[in-house]
Amino acid sequence: MAPGADDIVDVAARFGAEVVVPVAAELDARPNPEDCFSWEIVEAASAAGLRTATLSAEYGGAGIDSLTTARVVEELGRADLGVSVVLAQTLKIAQTLQQAASLEQRDRFLPRFAADPRCLLAIGITEPENSSNYFIPYPEDFRTTATKVPHGWVLNGKKHFISNGNVASLYLLFAQTDPGRGLVEGSTCFLVERPTEGFSIGKVHDKMGERLANNAELLFDDCFVPDENVLGEVSRGFEVLTTFFPASNAYAAASVLGVASAAYDRSVEWTSKRYQGGAYLIEHDSVAADLARMRMLIDAARAYLRQAARAADHRDTEWDPTMGSLPKVFASEVAWEVVTTTLSLHGGHGYMKEAGIEKLVRDAAAFLHSDGANRTLLLKAARFIRDDARQEGA
Ligand SMILES: Cc1cc2nc3c(=O)[nH]c(=O)nc-3n(C[C@H](O)[C@H](O)[C@H](O)COP(=O)(O)OP(=O)(O)OC[C@H]3O[C@@H](n4cnc5c(N)ncnc54)[C@H](O)[C@@H]3O)c2cc1C
Repeated sequence: MAPGADDIVDVAARFGAEVVVPVAAELDARPNPEDCFSWEIVEAASAAGLRTATLSAEYGGAGIDSLTTARVVEELGRADLGVSVVLAQTLKIAQTLQQAASLEQRDRFLPRFAADPRCLLAIGITEPENSSNYFIPYPEDFRTTATKVPHGWVLNGKKHFISNGNVASLYLLFAQTDPGRGLVEGSTCFLVERPTEGFSIGKVHDKMGERLANNAELLFDDCFVPDENVLGEVSRGFEVLTTFFPASNAYAAASVLGVASAAYDRSVEWTSKRYQGGAYLIEHDSVAADLARMRMLIDAARAYLRQAARAADHRDTEWDPTMGSLPKVFASEVAWEVVTTTLSLHGGHGYMKEAGIEKLVRDAAAFLHSDGANRTLLLKAARFIRDDARQEGA
């Protein structure tokens, strides 16, 4: 019998507890960011079916839906945010490829992706000059260009901050194909493999948290990509994002909510055994109220992101475009409040690295900025609200 949704979520929870948690602190503490990434974890995730879980059975996956994917990603985030991101990127891009790629592209890329236990996926949109501009969006051109030549395109330029940038084998890469029309109207999404001549990795960023995932610069210097690697239509790359990425924001929310859940568990455990002021901390009313507030925020953020993840698979009846921005804003703000409260409840113990709380604080900070800075996403959602109000008023 094919595994059900609860089975794969259980697999993720066990994988997190048994494979990731025992090594996460030691990997996180390594000074060189490249050493924080673990191929052993990726291979174990492949063996457990987690790397390919969103692929349909036809391509060797479990065919899980977006709601189940969000649950898987949260379980991984509970163990370690970086590991959750490494796999969430891969799971969501695999999901996108199945929907946006032509049959020829699917048959060319997906069997290889499924067969190689180290095959990770990445998406390169952000560049030093353009990031919030593509979320809001502002009519700038991408500085990364693709120039038409016989049988293909030549890429030049640079992306940065790209999750899995230095460890992926296949990339969705956005480049300007129609100069002067702005990045939304004039860019194309390319499938770029590594190695490809003219494509190299620049700096691997040294991050304050989420260290078990690597982020890197992608450098393109006269890199030829064949016509058959255009994903979707030329100069309509953003349709790939808007049509096929609806659950992406919910997955980011789920990853960081995993950190919040881990912090909450630590708070309950600590306050139940720390005795001060003639009682266990949990028996003091102000502390108990903190715990209840954390629980309320986490449950609310989880309900919101799961609603969005479910709606992403039922877009005709349940989707609302603000769901593509706001669940991550809420979950990351919740996570930030929960981890800083957890730090406070641990007192001086929390500040000591040995307690492991400071890692949760550093990790939670990542998603205030990743997958769109929170203010940028609020502005993006506000555009939809304004558009709706105008239509209703018209
Ligand atoms: C851990 C991590 C992983 C990432 N992974 C990827 C990835 O895999 N692929 C990828 O393509 N990108 C990735 N990114 C990039 C990420 O999406 C961008 O960092 C994010 O969009 C913010 O861009 P920025 O840092 O350049 O901020 P900026 O755009 O410079 O914004 C700085 C501040 O100004 C505000 N601001 C910007 N524009 C406006 C405006 N018009 N009005 C009002 N306020 C504004 C922002 O909200 C923010 O507060 C990642 C980033 C991080 C941190």
